[in-house]
Amino acid sequence: MKFLIILLSLNAFSFEQYLPPSLKINNKKLVFIDAETSDYKITFDLKTKTSKVETIIKFRVKETGYPVLDFVNDALKIEINGEKARGPEIEIPDTTVRYITKKVSRNDLHTLKITSELDEPNFFEDMNAVAEYFNFTDLKFRYFLERYVPASFEYDQVKMTFEVKFLNTDIEHAVMTNGEIKELSFNHYKIDYPDYYNSSSILFHVRPLETLTIVKTNYKSIDNRLIPITCYNRGSIKYCTDSYIEKVKGFLKTLENDFGPYPHQSLLIYELQTNSAMEHAGAVKTGMWAMRHELDHQWFARGIMPNNGNSGWLDEAIASWGDDDYNKSSNDNFDFNIGTSYSSVYKRITYGNAYSGGQRFLTKLDYKFKNLGGLKPLLRRYFEEFQLQVVSTKDFINLMNSFFDTDVEDIFKKVTGRDNYVEVYSFDQNNEFSYNSVLRKSKSSSCKFHKLQSKEEIFSEK
Ligand SMILES: [Zn+2]
Repeated sequence: MKFLIILLSLNAFSFEQYLPPSLKINNKKLVFIDAETSDYKITFDLKTKTSKVETIIKFRVKETGYPVLDFVNDALKIEINGEKARGPEIEIPDTTVRYITKKVSRNDLHTLKITSELDEPNFFEDMNAVAEYFNFTDLKFRYFLERYVPASFEYDQVKMTFEVKFLNTDIEHAVMTNGEIKELSFNHYKIDYPDYYNSSSILFHVRPLETLTIVKTNYKSIDNRLIPITCYNRGSIKYCTDSYIEKVKGFLKTLENDFGPYPHQSLLIYELQTNSAMEHAGAVKTGMWAMRHELDHQWFARGIMPNNGNSGWLDEAIASWGDDDYNKSSNDNFDFNIGTSYSSVYKRITYGNAYSGGQRFLTKLDYKFKNLGGLKPLLRRYFEEFQLQVVSTKDFINLMNSFFDTDVEDIFKKVTGRDNYVEVYSFDQNNEFSYNSVLRKSKSSSCKFHKLQSKEEIFSEK
């Protein structure tokens, strides 16, 4: 019986390999959560020009301790299993997180309720309406779902719902998002997101309906599914034209031929004529200049999802290589270091060097295995094997080793710096995590993709 219980409890953590190790800081064991469901009620009150977010997260932990998750804005109220608690910020290697000040037991299902506000929602001055956009990027700290609402981390696939309400306004608001939307009543929506989503998956954008141009069409995928495409933009300029959408379909066709069927249920395109671009799951925010890149991420980054900031480099490398039409190297000299996996397992952003440095690394690997067909068949297999799952660089290395019957572990260590965190971050003899001496803040990265929109851009009609 005991054996059975152990087996059952192990099963509860199917992604255990990706759960960051617990930390002992100030005599507290901080344990990363495995959220099962996260339900958010987001209310905009146009009379008081305020927002309110009520979050309920049901989660388990693998070890008894203080649960770790993140939210950037301070909470107004926190309750865990019916008891009041606080959620202070704490610095850990490579990032800042929050922990809940009540210890919870391993394996049990816990209920966390948090009341908070959105960070400065954009209320129009000349209209009784709001423009709110969840501006995500993997190149800055704490810029996924946690920027807006309490959330788990990228390693954690969570069944999420949003309930969105606009109070005290006659102006109809639209919710543009990559989930299944139901209109419950006027200005009141419920959204169900697929259960493979994580903290980087959601595109969430609300605006007065009359300020949007929305075009709907379908794409017939390689496996004969009819994929609904919604293309939208702000204002009266009609960018989502037939020829624009034909180009999108062309990219989809090429990517499907290369890597297999489009993995999501639908495609939402937030068309933006600025230099801001970002990928979500079954959704992109971009202009045509980065369309191929962000659609590539529908397979690599949001079709299979990196477990942390040390693994995201590969998706940028793949997308950048594709942007350059899978250019060739003339040698397989690996005498360089791009340092994209050099940090601790707690790291949450992608190094800017992932793009050109990562692409360079892929071209060398492609050359090395050119007699076995090069790297593209491996990428196709990688997608087949891991789609809609969380992955780490280690999964890619293991697959490459078996696919080419080789051992590339040392090459990856040398070029990406993988696993160095083991030497840098450790517990001291008292089992205290000695983070003060080793704390190293990674710098934010920058690149031409994944730029955030400015506050003005989100708000303005242009
Ligand atoms: Zn990218």
